[in-house]
Amino acid sequence: MSCDLHSHSWYSDGELRPADLVDAAVAAGLEVLALSDHDTIAGYPEAAERAAHVGLELLPAIEFSISEDEGRTQFHLLGYGFDVKSDELQICLSDLATARVDRARTCLELLAEQGVRLDLDALLAESAPGTVGRPHVARALVEAGACRTQEEAFTRYLRRGRPAYVPAPGLRAARALSLLHAAGGVGSLAHPFLSAGVDAAGGIEKFVGRWIVQGLDGIEIHHPRHKRNQRQRLSQLARRYGLLMTGGSDFHGAAKPDIKLGSVGIQRERYDALLERVHFTP
Ligand code: AMP
Ligand code: FE
Ligand code: FE
Ligand code: ZN
Repeated sequence: MSCDLHSHSWYSDGELRPADLVDAAVAAGLEVLALSDHDTIAGYPEAAERAAHVGLELLPAIEFSISEDEGRTQFHLLGYGFDVKSDELQICLSDLATARVDRARTCLELLAEQGVRLDLDALLAESAPGTVGRPHVARALVEAGACRTQEEAFTRYLRRGRPAYVPAPGLRAARALSLLHAAGGVGSLAHPFLSAGVDAAGGIEKFVGRWIVQGLDGIEIHHPRHKRNQRQRLSQLARRYGLLMTGGSDFHGAAKPDIKLGSVGIQRERYDALLERVHFTP
């Protein structure tokens, strides 16, 4: 696979600086990389500068948190090929970052009720200059000795249904899609089989139908956590609706050691099909 369209830097919950991520992509033999941080594009300028220097094709990208049905449906939407300077997008992202700080505060209050005290300022300093998310809280829980591993932090406290769970502030899909389209980009449903409320029997077909009406352009078929039969099911769906087929490793760094950058992705021809649908050239 020469194109990895899903990765994270330390501007969200990845470990690498954007420039180091670009170097890692080159070392992995990739032609194209998308840096798709959660609800932020703050890492793009650094990644773009390095990519131009080393001759890697970098696609502007983001992974939006989407929330619908009063939070019962939560999923991620990958945005690609948009104008990173779009004012409307920048304003929306800055609101989302503020909402994530409020969410972190609530999460720490819930943890305190469980007898675990973490310092909000230290947490925000740790996640700066990017957006704060549950993985930062998980790291802090490990550092404070309250949990042995980040996985344990999620299982005991942070997962949906656990005592310190607070849903991510999410846009509605229609809003995220219209922001992306207005900025010349496209939206692709990320790892559908990992999304709350979407994985129920017949769920994916039903939900995809709903979002297509709202302008969904693509679907992430290739993801390390998708099994082969799931990829087949998604491919059928993509063909039926003429959706772009995207894919990537969802690389975060050493925190998820089984996932290597470039280990999952798409071929050049699928990427070219995506480029034909985007209107922004950096
Ligand atoms: P947030 O957007 O703040 O809710 O954080 C979501 C991120 O948390 C995901 O993209 C994953 O990187 C991470 N995550 C979610 N569930 C788990 C889990 N069970 N174990 C480890 N990391 C997780
Ligand atoms: Fe993540
Ligand atoms: Fe995701
Ligand atoms: Zn991701």
